[in-house]
Amino acid sequence: MQIPVAKILSTIAIVLTLVSRSDAASLRVVTTTTDLASLVTTVGGDKVEVEALVPGGFNADFYQPRPSDLFKVHRAKLFMQIGLGLEEWSRDLVNEANNSELVKAQVSVGIPLMDVPKGRVDYSFGDIHPYGNPHYQLDPEAGRIMAQNVFNALSYTDPANKDYFAGNLKTFDERLTAAEKKWDAEMAPFAGSAIIPYHESWSYFARAYKLMIPTTIENKPGFAPSPSRVQEVIEIAKKEKVRAIVTEPYYDISIAQLIGTEAGVPCLNLTIDVGGTSEQKDYISMIDYVVSQFVKAFSGHGN
Ligand SMILES: [Zn+2]
Repeated sequence: MQIPVAKILSTIAIVLTLVSRSDAASLRVVTTTTDLASLVTTVGGDKVEVEALVPGGFNADFYQPRPSDLFKVHRAKLFMQIGLGLEEWSRDLVNEANNSELVKAQVSVGIPLMDVPKGRVDYSFGDIHPYGNPHYQLDPEAGRIMAQNVFNALSYTDPANKDYFAGNLKTFDERLTAAEKKWDAEMAPFAGSAIIPYHESWSYFARAYKLMIPTTIENKPGFAPSPSRVQEVIEIAKKEKVRAIVTEPYYDISIAQLIGTEAGVPCLNLTIDVGGTSEQKDYISMIDYVVSQFVKAFSGHGN
């Protein structure tokens, strides 16, 4: 069946009219990660419409933008990212989105960073953390600063609603403080425990809860371990008496499991972003899920 071109065009025109009407109603924000989108929703409330580019449970280090992402950025007023080179893939996307009005902000400002390379950085070897470790979202205190930076960006872009955003930020701050008390108490018995993560994504969590990381399975962020490296990690796991191997679902889980089995410790396969599991509904429940999985594993009831 042939559909007349004029009919298609008139349908598109109606759709575009609807889109631009809803544009006027609220501030359109595009974020790279779902954690960031969650914080924008928390602070922005009903004044914002937010979309994340990387779906929950995906690896933000290696995301490949889709054509529909171009449209999302094209019609957004504000683009927010984690920074520190995590979203190198977003540079071309933002440039090609043909949106000269777009306000761009990143939320790492003010966060005490880890794994910042000293001296010369060798980009030629494909280091994916060239400006320091970008996986700071697992430190709740970094989450507090992220929310403050979200507030700053929203208030800059939509100053008329600054007081409303400030009220939401205050509520979030209080909820986070209460949650941190709970997490601190739950994790306190395990301070000093050693873990071996697959990737450098657990450094900030370890700093927050005084866990030790003698090594990571990857020798260098973004590079799969060789068989001899796997053997070396098994030896380190035994020697350092690690209590868990930790991976995210998008790494080579069989390697993490093998190391866990050989070292006789549990292997935790955890999503570390909002939407990764159905329990991880927003930033606070995302961390809550992670903490509960650690407590289970360290108490001997792990998965
Ligand atoms: Zn990374």
